[in-house]
Amino acid sequence: MSTRVELVAKDKRYVWHPYTAMDQYEAEVDPLVVQRALGARLFDVDGRSYLDGNASWWVAALGHGHPRLVRALGEQAARLAHCALAGITHAPAAELAERMIARAPGMARIFYVDDGSTAIEAAVKMAVQMWAQSGRPRRTRLLALEGAFHGDTIGAASLGGVEVFRRPFAGVLFDCLRVDAPFAEADYERAFAALEKAVAASADELAAVVLEPIVQGASGMRLYPPAFLAHARAVCDRHDVLLVADEVFTGYGRTGRFWACDHASVRPDLLCTAKGFSGGMLPMGAVLATSRVEQAFRGDRDRAFYYGHSFCGNPLGAAVALEVLRVFDEERVLDGITERAARIAARFAKLGALDGVTATRSLGMIGALDLRDDGGYLARAGWRVYDEARRRGAYLRPLGNVVYVTPPLNIPLADLDELLDIVEESVRAVLMR
Ligand SMILES: *Cc1c(COP(=O)(O)O)cnc(C)c1O
Repeated sequence: MSTRVELVAKDKRYVWHPYTAMDQYEAEVDPLVVQRALGARLFDVDGRSYLDGNASWWVAALGHGHPRLVRALGEQAARLAHCALAGITHAPAAELAERMIARAPGMARIFYVDDGSTAIEAAVKMAVQMWAQSGRPRRTRLLALEGAFHGDTIGAASLGGVEVFRRPFAGVLFDCLRVDAPFAEADYERAFAALEKAVAASADELAAVVLEPIVQGASGMRLYPPAFLAHARAVCDRHDVLLVADEVFTGYGRTGRFWACDHASVRPDLLCTAKGFSGGMLPMGAVLATSRVEQAFRGDRDRAFYYGHSFCGNPLGAAVALEVLRVFDEERVLDGITERAARIAARFAKLGALDGVTATRSLGMIGALDLRDDGGYLARAGWRVYDEARRRGAYLRPLGNVVYVTPPLNIPLADLDELLDIVEESVRAVLMR
């Protein structure tokens, strides 16, 4: 096996990293070289451990190497690693479907996809095709929120509202309607009215409202009130427009409830899930649809949803996703969040008193703070905290000037306290300089 130095040399020579300025990476970064992971910890090739502050980009909801998920994956791999899902089926796809529908009130069908971005792509196409086949062919537009993030494929990026991710593709992204979510109390009234007005004005051509319920993850862990989500549902109902909930980040307990929509007792027409869906083990996602949506694709063969990916319903992913749901129930994962969420909330509230921290917020297994900085997404202050945290044994990738934690939902309490200590020490160290 290659040494650490050899691995980094090969990486720097050949790997094109996601979301990474490569010149700076090559010149300045000595990357973590992760060899294995267990629970809430990553271990590098030198045996040093790092608390995984963001559950490896929000996916490892049940931690790394959960023995039940590892076993489910191994057993499924030995039986059937893959087969197509068009008109044939297998146990993991069928059993997971039954269990998912039971987990998602109001939903009648599940469509399997590869990840969060393709869940959004499929949901957008379902919405548009549904209206085309329901006597409303002019309904082809989408409404999304400012600052939204729905993934990086062209359709998902079209819905996105984070400027740096959009800029290079401005010419090819489709145009959508856009309104602000209310992130401060002073904005509530205006935001509620603006959403209502935008939907009313364009109801004839609007296929769906697409949003991340309650929390916008990628734009900086920004929280808006459940009442705004309920309002969106009511406005969509009033004008018979579909509501698409992107629960890719917020689903599977991240906000303290299984779905973020549960905070407002909202049932969307289409629900997108990924990330925690497969416990962070395999790339897989799904779109859940109401009976009304799915029924619009019945009848003549040309009304079918001619859409799919090679790996739709992949048995490995489905077997793991099924085991994830069993673990949620049998290990009472949601119940365990209460104590953890309280510790996260208390620590981030405390950090709000520091000079240089301009805001803090928390919800469920999310804690975030803003560092004073005017450089926007590409700001450096968050990266200085990253360096400090790494030295202390935690992986804490920032979102611009936003320092946050989204640890595994079942992180041991001692690990959580250690992670929060490292966050505090690292932020203090950066602010003291
Ligand atoms: C991460 C994310 C996506 C994209 O999911 P991928 O699996 O990375 O394609 C979509 N929506 C939200 C809210 C996300 O956080």
